[in-house]
Amino acid sequence: MIYCPYCGEKNRDEASFCKKCGNRLPEIRKKPSTHHLTREPIGLVEEKIETSFEWDVAIIAALILLISYGILRIIISPIALWLAAAFSILYLLSAARKKVSIPLLIIMTLIIAVNIKTFLGL
Ligand SMILES: [Zn+2]
Repeated sequence: MIYCPYCGEKNRDEASFCKKCGNRLPEIRKKPSTHHLTREPIGLVEEKIETSFEWDVAIIAALILLISYGILRIIISPIALWLAAAFSILYLLSAARKKVSIPLLIIMTLIIAVNIKTFLGL
């Protein structure tokens, strides 16, 4: 028996949807098929890698950099930020075939900017 997480109704183990409220039931199988469990995430990852030249990601990253530039130029000097942004964009271009993480890019920009500020005093 499997209990519906939405309404508590008992359903058959094989059921995909609750017979009472119609919500999707969690997939708890007595004999979990390892094929099913392992193949799906790999498929998703492969798909992401294949379509990984991502103009949308590049554009979003550029927008975020511009916005952070607008905010951070108050705190950190524009020169340091431009240098940091340039490094990050170079990184983005060199890593375009790999998985590009926008949060990583932002963190990189910030770390580089702070380093430039600290060590070069810009
Ligand atoms: Zn239900």
